[in-house]
Amino acid sequence: MAYELPELRYSFDALEPYIDRQTMEIHYSKHHQTYITNLNKALDSYPELFEKSIEDLLINLDQIPESIRVAVRNGGGGHYNHSLFWETIGPKSDNKPSEKMNNLISDSFGSFVNFKAEFTEKATKQFGSGWGWLAQDNGGKMVTLSTPNQDTPLSSGLNPILGIDVWEHAYYLSYQNRRPDYINAFWEIINWEAVENRLRR
Ligand code: MN
Repeated sequence: MAYELPELRYSFDALEPYIDRQTMEIHYSKHHQTYITNLNKALDSYPELFEKSIEDLLINLDQIPESIRVAVRNGGGGHYNHSLFWETIGPKSDNKPSEKMNNLISDSFGSFVNFKAEFTEKATKQFGSGWGWLAQDNGGKMVTLSTPNQDTPLSSGLNPILGIDVWEHAYYLSYQNRRPDYINAFWEIINWEAVENRLRR
């Protein structure tokens, strides 16, 4: 089955003033859709790959036929990353990390404050387009990292549970060159329950 845009659980203006309506609409309807279109186009030449999950494709990129590997890496990564992004943000609420989540973060980073500083630094310093991440390694330990372009932590054996898109298309209309302001605003719209639901252990 061809890939399609996942349902968005909130309206385009639901994240204002942190992410504006127009950015959301273009980001979801145009940018995300383009990644999906390119992924589907690539897989059309190897239809049997539609039977694999998107995670499976991205974890095992080296097994993808060479002629479509870059397209799957970029289109598939773009689809996976954006799906995770929409899922783990939402309208501002009092939704704070649970005690379990806080403990996991403290165990890995010393404190939530340290985690926030580390995540912010990775997202801020990612040169050019890419993503900042919170992910879990195989032992369950949390790590922060950044990836260029649409590369995903999955391809490094990590389970991403929270990601911030730092491509300019994610923030330019409201924030122009002020990426740090956008990253700062991101903390207001994290859906911690959705983040916790992504934990594997
Ligand atoms: Mn994006």
